[in-house]
Amino acid sequence: MDIFKFGGASVKDADGVKNLANIVRDYKKGELLIVISAMGKITNKLEELTKAYLSQSDDTHAIFDEIKHFHFNIIEELFQGNANPVYNEVANTFVEIDWLIEDEPDSNSDYIYDQIVSIGEVVSTKIVAAWLNETNNKALWVDARNYIQTDNTYREGKVDWEKTNQIIQKEMVPLIAKNIIVTQGFIGGTSENYTTTLGREGSDYSAAIFASCLNAAALTIWKDVPGVLNADPKWFDETEKIPQLSYHDAIELTYYGATVIHPKTIKPLQNKGIPLFVRSFIQPEGSGTAITKDSNPLPVPSFIFKVNQALISIFPKDYSFIIEENLSNIFELFHQHRIKINTMLNSAISFSVSVDDNEEKVKKLIESLSNQFTVKYNKGLELVTIRYYNQQTIDRVTVDKDILLEVKSRHTCQMVMKNKA
Ligand code: ASP
Ligand code: MG
Repeated sequence: MDIFKFGGASVKDADGVKNLANIVRDYKKGELLIVISAMGKITNKLEELTKAYLSQSDDTHAIFDEIKHFHFNIIEELFQGNANPVYNEVANTFVEIDWLIEDEPDSNSDYIYDQIVSIGEVVSTKIVAAWLNETNNKALWVDARNYIQTDNTYREGKVDWEKTNQIIQKEMVPLIAKNIIVTQGFIGGTSENYTTTLGREGSDYSAAIFASCLNAAALTIWKDVPGVLNADPKWFDETEKIPQLSYHDAIELTYYGATVIHPKTIKPLQNKGIPLFVRSFIQPEGSGTAITKDSNPLPVPSFIFKVNQALISIFPKDYSFIIEENLSNIFELFHQHRIKINTMLNSAISFSVSVDDNEEKVKKLIESLSNQFTVKYNKGLELVTIRYYNQQTIDRVTVDKDILLEVKSRHTCQMVMKNKA
């Protein structure tokens, strides 16, 4: 069997839902499980709603109304009115949130976030399942929260693989034999049946979990690009599709910030040798990118840009060397402040790192580093990572730039830079 994952962009309107139905048209029961994200940019809107509710803003109800209208418009367009049972199912899902936001927030804000934001996926899957049933495919809506079992780290649920695997084997396998399954990405459930989310953009990861536990033949992620590109079209005019990637290269690219696939997606697939295809829902006949074990493709140079970087340079006040002890103190502080290091370099008495410039967090980190170290920093920088670099590719991205930091390994070059004054 296959797993298909459709992201928000693929189901952003009624036409998107119809297009999805066309893509899965020829599949029969027993052959397919479909994982779907919230429609369009609804997760952002639901985050806004959560914020408004937590701060008891006057906008709370207006934001929620906007979310409801967005979905009801799609339902009305698909089903020519509101007579289909899905209309009431979706209305009932919204009522639960109406009740929640009626009272003042009295629990943990991350918990509240998950209860609210998760409904994006609940509603999108209800609409898609209803549409498949209305058209050519019998589909069964399944609640992912009963299968993806997590701890209670809200907003970042940690998957209990053993439990998840057991329950999928025991209870989902028989369902799949009789149906095409439609379920949610991004959400899971705790042992006490509370909803958790797996972190933003986590639907790819959900799809990989299902693929792994079901020993799927393949996972296909349907995107609005023809496959994995060698650069983000947001930053680059000329991009090239990479036809084949190894798991290893895919992990490296996502680790350095390529946003095409969620970084946690590859490992479960690699562990079971399940191929991952990235294909275009706009041109479903295209071959996309195949990410597999033994592909030994010609390396295509890939570029990953991160903007809004801060370069932090750390010098021991007593001029001691940057060796194990200093490094472990430094790493401990980064860990405590939950700041991810994007690239780093050390010399005898200095240690430099580039991080996403989250002002609040970086300020606190620098304060705590300052006890032991002299700290200097630069803001407003770009970090470029080139995988399979050569001089030509470096020249291409460094025109009119000053390079503040450069780190090279055999296959990867990272440069922190700013525009020339
Ligand atoms: N809807 C969630 C998000 O936008 C999960 C996902 O799209 O993967 O973050
Ligand atoms: Mg999304």
